[in-house]
Amino acid sequence: MTVPAAFSKLSLSDDMPPTPAPSSPRTGRTYSLATELVYTEHSDQYNSSSMPLYQTATFKQTSNAGGAEYDYTRSGNPTRSHLEKHLAKIMRARRALVVSSGMGAMDVISRMLRPGDEVIAGDDLYGGTHRLLKYLSTHGGIIVHHVDTTSVDAVLPVLNEKTAMVLLETPTNPLIKIVDIPGIAAAAKAANPNTIVAVDNTMMSPILLNPLELGADIVYESGTKYLSGHHDLMAGVIAVNDAALGEKLYFTINASGCGLAPFDCWLLLRGIKTLGVRMEKQQANAQRIAEFLEGQGFKVRYPGLKSHPQYDLHWSMARGAGAVLSFETGNVGVSERIVEAARLWAISVSFGCVNSLISMPCRMSHASIDKKTREERQLPEDLIRLCVGIEDVDDLIDDLQTALVQAGAVTITPNGMRAGVPPEVEAELAAAAAQH
Ligand SMILES: *Cc1c(COP(=O)(O)O)cnc(C)c1O
Repeated sequence: MTVPAAFSKLSLSDDMPPTPAPSSPRTGRTYSLATELVYTEHSDQYNSSSMPLYQTATFKQTSNAGGAEYDYTRSGNPTRSHLEKHLAKIMRARRALVVSSGMGAMDVISRMLRPGDEVIAGDDLYGGTHRLLKYLSTHGGIIVHHVDTTSVDAVLPVLNEKTAMVLLETPTNPLIKIVDIPGIAAAAKAANPNTIVAVDNTMMSPILLNPLELGADIVYESGTKYLSGHHDLMAGVIAVNDAALGEKLYFTINASGCGLAPFDCWLLLRGIKTLGVRMEKQQANAQRIAEFLEGQGFKVRYPGLKSHPQYDLHWSMARGAGAVLSFETGNVGVSERIVEAARLWAISVSFGCVNSLISMPCRMSHASIDKKTREERQLPEDLIRLCVGIEDVDDLIDDLQTALVQAGAVTITPNGMRAGVPPEVEAELAAAAAQH
């Protein structure tokens, strides 16, 4: 039997620090990701089925000189180690590290930069990433180039020997544009072999995309989203194949004390077990909803639709389309009404939860980007983002349809509903706006 390239690097008996036990049956068979997600094995003295929670800050030593496997939880904790080992396997990496949030992960990675280093990042980035890069450029002497990373040609002119890091995110959010990870990684390495290509994989999760196999040096994601799946914890995950790079990142985590707390590690271990089934259902629901909206005539952005301009590029890298999509109504006031009229869809930032969420990015998650910049990046003010959960899909569509009708986002014709704000609704909204 041939071992897939991803697993050839992964010796389960490896002494990957700091780790208590392998978590895969060593039968010689290579299991699929869906199986690996749920199968865990550890060396608990009572053979507990679930990895025990070591809710302790310190570990007693048997000798004056210390030297036990664990001594202090900032440096290492068995529950955290087990989670890291499990994640390394799932993320097809040699080493995984967990920290207190997705932004914490980005912070740890960015501490490898020195004054004068250049960073290339997207222009449709997660807002928090944008904010941290801004801070680094004003306080750390880092030069940040924001370019449209969904076009390799836009990246090429800014690459040079001072490019220390390239930060990618695909699909982008909320415009759902696709980044050519292999194309950009190859170009970046050609410009400077020491450049670090880091990919934020939060939107896809390891079940759908493995950036390390596409030329990335570091993959990180917010464990707050799909990995945990229930919006009941915050976590960040970093994975690498290069052992020295892993040691550097671990040094920063231990030095700054941002390792994930044992209880959150334990909760995340539980969440990860259902990642496969959650994503399968969320993605199937998202596909139905995207087709429903497109069928009504709305402009929908979702890589599961053949109409997506980068459909082929997305599927050349990923195993699924994910569960986040966005659509336009043509009228900001109508979009606001839809969001407020929805009942099943909670108005909330974030995504990756079992519950379905609805939001207007320009009013919420991306409101920190000023209006002029939003215009430059062609971020439609009326854009509605849907983050699809695991509810019954007919209930979700029914709720959305009711909201569309109540908000006046559709015109009722003898042949059914069509996207388009009727003139009387336009006039009503304009009059209401004029009163303010
Ligand atoms: C949420 C998110 C982050 C930040 O993660 P936190 O856990 O909220 O700190 C980073 N990148 C993307 C794409 C995200 O969606």
